[in-house]
Amino acid sequence: RLTEDTDHRAEERPSASQVLLEAQKELLDYKGLGISVLEMSHRSADFTKILNSTENLLRELLYIPENYKVIFLQGGGSAQFSAVPLNLLGLKEERCADYIVTGAWSAKAAKEAEKYGKVNIVHPKLDSYTKIPDPNTWKLSPGASYVYYCSNETVNGVEFDFIPDIKEAVLACDMSSNFLSKPVDVSKFGLIFAGAQKNIGCAGVTVVIVREDLLGVALKECPVVLDYKIQAGNNSIYNTPPCFSIYIMGLVLEWIKNNGSAKAMEKLNITKSKLIYDLINESNGFYVCPVEVKSRSRMNIPFRIGNNNGDAALEKTFLDEAAKLGQFCKDSGKAGRHASLLSAVP
Ligand code: PMP
Repeated sequence: RLTEDTDHRAEERPSASQVLLEAQKELLDYKGLGISVLEMSHRSADFTKILNSTENLLRELLYIPENYKVIFLQGGGSAQFSAVPLNLLGLKEERCADYIVTGAWSAKAAKEAEKYGKVNIVHPKLDSYTKIPDPNTWKLSPGASYVYYCSNETVNGVEFDFIPDIKEAVLACDMSSNFLSKPVDVSKFGLIFAGAQKNIGCAGVTVVIVREDLLGVALKECPVVLDYKIQAGNNSIYNTPPCFSIYIMGLVLEWIKNNGSAKAMEKLNITKSKLIYDLINESNGFYVCPVEVKSRSRMNIPFRIGNNNGDAALEKTFLDEAAKLGQFCKDSGKAGRHASLLSAVP
């Protein structure tokens, strides 16, 4: 299915090219102002317009209810591993939280949270990150301030195809790698965060969507720049926000809106991932995906070649040949771990 004549020139990548060409066009002179977004003051009226329109687009695309704040922060998904416990552990006296650990990223988040309070892993430890543990085995703690999970484990290719039913507890979710890849019912969550660089823009900005009634209980050791109440109260400009990354996010969100919104992204992602899973399934074990079928990610598809652990010579040949076809970033090293700008779209 990879053909010699496949070429990745900008005009053949409509999603990337529209956004990047728009950014290129406006790079030196944003809408006739004579300056670039890169040069703009984050407190100027023009940047405020960009900030507000980006937030409004996000609210529109995800039907974010009015009692949720949308914040744009620096520090990436990893800063949120600390920000979530620092902001939410104080919801209950016990200072403890429940974590569902299904891969590398939720494991890192749980480890970080342990610095600030007690962490309870709700399910028996997994031997490998290849499935979502059966919800019937989860033991939630009544004193937990929140329940945390990662909806798509980027490295391991494990994706939730359901929202955990945790009754009245506060649900916090890392959606960094499947954000806006499909519609999501925001009202089921206390908090959602997502780094922009996978699906909605470039590195530098992380979106936080948080229910208003959860604000105001940050631990005293919470750095001011990670305090959701302070950042929300200052419309994300308590300190200098990543202005250009927010601007790029706005362009991507506009592209998503003009191309059928979250529902259409879901359809595309089903089609795209099916192409690869079908190939794996029909390969008689030549390609091996370790993840159980119902937990397979539509966003990141890890696979080995030749056998479960990968045949080194075959995998090297695959990477060399794929690089020759321009289908693969050779430097990304491992099959299935190449994250690209705008990966939500073909
Ligand atoms: N969570 C997930 C699901 C991720 O994929 C990543 C990064 N790949 C992170 C968190 C960490 O994000 P960052 O590198 O922006 O800190």
